[in-house]
Amino acid sequence: NKQVTLNNYVTGFPKESDMKITTGSIKLKVPEGSKDTVLLKNLYLSYDPYMRGRMSKLDKPLFVASFKLGEVGMPGLTAYGGLYELCSPKKGEYVYVSAASGAVGQLVGQFAKLVGCYVFGSAGSKEKVDLLKNRFGFDDAFNYKEEPDLDAALNRCFPEGIDIYFENVGGKMLDAVLLNMRIRGRIAVCGMISQYNLEKPEGVHNLMQVVGKRIRMEGFLAGDFYHQYPKFLELVMPAIKEGKLVNVEDIAEGLEKAPSALVGIFTGQNVGKQLVVVARE
Ligand code: NDP
Repeated sequence: NKQVTLNNYVTGFPKESDMKITTGSIKLKVPEGSKDTVLLKNLYLSYDPYMRGRMSKLDKPLFVASFKLGEVGMPGLTAYGGLYELCSPKKGEYVYVSAASGAVGQLVGQFAKLVGCYVFGSAGSKEKVDLLKNRFGFDDAFNYKEEPDLDAALNRCFPEGIDIYFENVGGKMLDAVLLNMRIRGRIAVCGMISQYNLEKPEGVHNLMQVVGKRIRMEGFLAGDFYHQYPKFLELVMPAIKEGKLVNVEDIAEGLEKAPSALVGIFTGQNVGKQLVVVARE
């Protein structure tokens, strides 16, 4: 059996060489006589941006502990809780989603469409922008890498301003969004991927907008909504069956691809939810 382990704690951008594949050190056995233990076989592994935080040596972890060197995921509920529970979207409202083609973002946009919002997303390539418009049903989308003036881009997309921003990126994107929010707008702070590899996070300059516009900005963790799981399933299961909700996954083949798959999340290599398939059955 194989596992991916961390070689060293990471500062800055992670590299494939920060991880290694090791073989044969895990004992796969159900203890003899055990009645309440099962042995599971992993078919798919989930790769998520939050894992970057666990690769740093943190004395005061924000919400999960650092990985231990040499030892060794929830997007739907995240999108559901952040959008519906924190922001209460209403028909006709203007919703903006950053990192919109990713695991969480693609669902946020579709959830917002289910209640009749106008939805705009941004992503880092033409392929992803096409996906947002043609597969996920966003009203429109732009490639933020081709828009050096993000304030101007958002002004063009939302001439009347943004009611709800689903924050996945942080930094310059958040600064530009704050300038384009409407009065009593809501911001669900899900993550800030542009900051995870920086040793010093960028400052946010336009926070005073929160005061003048009476914006409600709230951070959350997916785990805050576990108790809502039945309600979440009630919404998504029929919508999936009726074809009103779709999802796109990016599946890397084999555990050897796990380090590059994780690093690829931070360069935008993944198109949709990043998984690694380690066995077919
Ligand atoms: P994605 O599937 O969206 O993958 C990450 C994407 O982020 C990349 O494909 C890339 O897309 C974009 N990205 C990477 N670096 C940057 C950058 N410097 N600036 C702008 N965009 C960048 O990941 P998830 O959907 O799993 O996660 C999205 C966000 O949600 C993350 O911030 C994550 O930490 C957060 N999250 C929070 C949870 C919670 O409980 N609060 C739970 C799950 C996720 P592109 O090509 O568009 O740049």
